[in-house]
Amino acid sequence: MPRIAYVNGRYLPLAQAQVHIEDRGYQFADGVYEVVPLYRGRLLDEEPHLDRFAYSLRELEIAPPMSRAALKLVLHELVRCNAMSDALLYFQATRGVAPRDHKFPAGAKTAFVATMRRSRPPSAAQIEQGVSVVTMPDIRWERCDIKSISLLPNLLAKQKAAAAGAFEAWLVDDDDRITEGSSTNAWIVTSDGKLVTHDAGAAILNGITRQRVIKLVESRGITFEQRAFSRDEAMHAREAFLSSSSSFVLPITRIDGKPVGEGRPGPVTRQLREIYVTAALETPILA
Ligand code: PLP
Repeated sequence: MPRIAYVNGRYLPLAQAQVHIEDRGYQFADGVYEVVPLYRGRLLDEEPHLDRFAYSLRELEIAPPMSRAALKLVLHELVRCNAMSDALLYFQATRGVAPRDHKFPAGAKTAFVATMRRSRPPSAAQIEQGVSVVTMPDIRWERCDIKSISLLPNLLAKQKAAAAGAFEAWLVDDDDRITEGSSTNAWIVTSDGKLVTHDAGAAILNGITRQRVIKLVESRGITFEQRAFSRDEAMHAREAFLSSSSSFVLPITRIDGKPVGEGRPGPVTRQLREIYVTAALETPILA
């Protein structure tokens, strides 16, 4: 069965799903996106994803493509059409189609597309043994809180990490602090046992998985801090992990080739992955 995409009002087989070459997303990366995980038939944290989508649109003054209720209907219908149970639901809105000109076009209609693909979750070995990250300068803009489709610095970082045989790049700001990964949030358990992740703000994307982990941590009375941490602190951490919609909570056992702690996933990371997955399974299955 071909995958079905939604393109500006129509559900189409992926091969026929096309947008105009003067779409500002294509020419300027003038748009925003979201990725919602479908996990065993459950759309995880749909409302926070829709909240962040609305925030990104607002920050860039892009008109919402449709009402929130209509958006949910479209997305649920796309999930139904694709009949997948473990997938990533991708959707993006751009400022629409207009003759190429940097200024916002008057009267352009927000363009909206959505696609799905089966998820490629981390392997059992990656979960059991952890993955590696390499650090590199964070060369992104100063509004990383917006989930913009303009991702070149993230792509370059991920490619460099892959070339170095690492799973992810950890991005380091001018003050030698780790902001986040190229497509994931960064966490450590410090040498004195504190769980730390960078505070939300313009320097990072406030991951929905990050937010969910924070809620779980708070509800269990686990102490943690939201603050920047240095590369050096990370190098001496007991544990490290990343969070994202596609990897959930994934242990990191090497940073720049050096083992984290004892070089094995630690107890805090294991516990957080487990409680994240348990909470995910409490989400109602999409009707
Ligand atoms: N940080 C960046 C730069 C990202 O691109 C992503 C996800 O795409 C994340 C963090 C994790 O966010 P989420 O948990 O919403 O997937």
